[in-house]
Amino acid sequence: MLEFDINGERLIREPGVHPAELVPPPADALAVWVNGETRDLNRPLDQGGHLQFLTFEDSAGRHVFRHSSAHLLAQAVKRLFPDAKLGTGPALEDGFYYDIWLPEPLTESDLPRIEEMMRQIVQENLPIERMELSREEALRIFDERGESFKLEIVRRIPESAVISAYRQGEFVDLCSGPHLPRTGLIGAVKLTQVSGAYWRGDEKNPMMTRIYGTSFPDAESLERHLAQIEEAKLRDHRKLGVQLDLFSFREEAPGFVFWHPKGQQVYRTLEEFSRRLQSLRGYQEVATPWIYRVGLWERSGHWDHYRDNLFLIDRDDELSGVKPMNCPGHCLLFKGATRSYRDLPWRLAEYSPLSRYERSGALHGLMRVRGFHQDDAHLFVRPDQIREEMFGVLDLVDVVYRTFDMPYEVVLSTRPDDYMGELALWERAESELEAVLRARGLKYQINPKDGAFYGPKLDVYAVDSLGRRWQCATAQLDFQLPEKFQLEYIDQDGQPKRPVMIHRAIMGSIERFLGILVEHYAGAFPLWLAPVQVRILPITDRQQNYARRIWTELRALGVRAEVDDRNQKVQYKIREAQVAKIPEMLVVGPRDEANGSVSLRTREAGDLGAIPLSDYLASIRDRAKIPDEERLGVG
Ligand SMILES: [Zn+2]
Ligand SMILES: [Zn+2]
Repeated sequence: MLEFDINGERLIREPGVHPAELVPPPADALAVWVNGETRDLNRPLDQGGHLQFLTFEDSAGRHVFRHSSAHLLAQAVKRLFPDAKLGTGPALEDGFYYDIWLPEPLTESDLPRIEEMMRQIVQENLPIERMELSREEALRIFDERGESFKLEIVRRIPESAVISAYRQGEFVDLCSGPHLPRTGLIGAVKLTQVSGAYWRGDEKNPMMTRIYGTSFPDAESLERHLAQIEEAKLRDHRKLGVQLDLFSFREEAPGFVFWHPKGQQVYRTLEEFSRRLQSLRGYQEVATPWIYRVGLWERSGHWDHYRDNLFLIDRDDELSGVKPMNCPGHCLLFKGATRSYRDLPWRLAEYSPLSRYERSGALHGLMRVRGFHQDDAHLFVRPDQIREEMFGVLDLVDVVYRTFDMPYEVVLSTRPDDYMGELALWERAESELEAVLRARGLKYQINPKDGAFYGPKLDVYAVDSLGRRWQCATAQLDFQLPEKFQLEYIDQDGQPKRPVMIHRAIMGSIERFLGILVEHYAGAFPLWLAPVQVRILPITDRQQNYARRIWTELRALGVRAEVDDRNQKVQYKIREAQVAKIPEMLVVGPRDEANGSVSLRTREAGDLGAIPLSDYLASIRDRAKIPDEERLGVG
């Protein structure tokens, strides 16, 4: 008998039961997720465990949808070009592609015709069926169809593996699946691009035509997605970074950021925000060396696994490495004194500079750099503290991402085959991580066997205002580093024990996070984060003194203000402040000076009319500050 856990309910059924016989699936279900494995909606179950229906809202659900769209594309191409030979067609984060060999390579002008055929197959609403094949059957089917690339794949499948294929109408593709139940679910498709790609990435092999596309359940979502792509181009942080005078890069130091005064202000505000939240939660900040003798990197394992990314320095006939992460330094700190079980958890935070070598071709604005800082921390905990500490880490994740109005998704990666450490500790840690995710009411996904060899991990994907997902926060349990550094604490029974280490970052690289925020907000930072919060715009030269007085009062309140004292028309000054994305403008004319008022304009709402200066000062004072727990409505 199989035992299932569905929405916290326990069900016992015979093997071979269909998911839909357990509980009615939601109308928009695309696939089912059983114990970490994504499966066809209508495939009988041969294993019990935690079961969940996947929709387009789940990344695993979208993956099935996009991969099925790749099959749809291949079927359409085969109908239009019967001599086509299929390569492979994976799903991508935002769409899919299929590599297809054609006697005549396709061009973008062929795409509308293929799209039209795809829509027709959607109309036909063909059932998509899974078939399991013997090696001989598989070879026969793809030989009859002239699919030489598929035959090559079949021959590479290990003897012990199950060979499966999926059929929809006349079309059959070799595939391990899973797939949607019907072609009719793919409501909207768009083919976006054609390029060439060598079969299996090898230039000695034939050149395939790679057709890219994307797909959605309905036309409206597709339109929204295409508009978002256009919007994302306008919001490119590299472009806005120049326009808003935040940062630049120079060829003298590739991959390292020059922060201009305004960018540095935003950067510092983010760091201060992080510091405040962490100190409220019992983190202690430290600063550790950034250059270590190579022996440390040998001991930590970086020398074996990460050497290519280390910046090395050869001095006094000795090799040293600039740190790519803080963990080994924190282990040395832990080791510096006798620790008791009462000292744990020990939460160490650090914002030091880190360096990782990246190929120059891989560098990309703030998103991928060689020099950066993280809101990094290491928690040294007893095994019985894992649950509570991870709960705390997720609480911090929640506060930070809610502050930036970013929903987020969590992925739990579990024990890989080449894991190190005690099995019992792994199992306990994994079940506690799941318990924490459920206790927080988070919808999460499991990536089975995708954890690091040293421990399971949680990755948090933040969703920005354009619906793009960014992997930012991460929390990794580590059973190995404490082993390598022989870390110990004295337990209640007087015996030395090994602590567990939690590596965690909430924003991740602050450089990259700032780049994400620039695009998320299109450069219009919220008031508390904006480099210049208020600009005062005197209408004529005669209001200069009044403007200066307001400026002095704002500065005294800690508000970042500036005066535009140029000899320009006020309309021009307003437009410039708007382009600079300054949240609030105070226009001051003779009447304002006489009445002790200011005429308030905001970036979003425009002209709000005159208000007494004292009222404005009372209101801006708190709004301009870094949000505290109380203002965030948590804590
Ligand atoms: Zn497939
Ligand atoms: Zn670490």
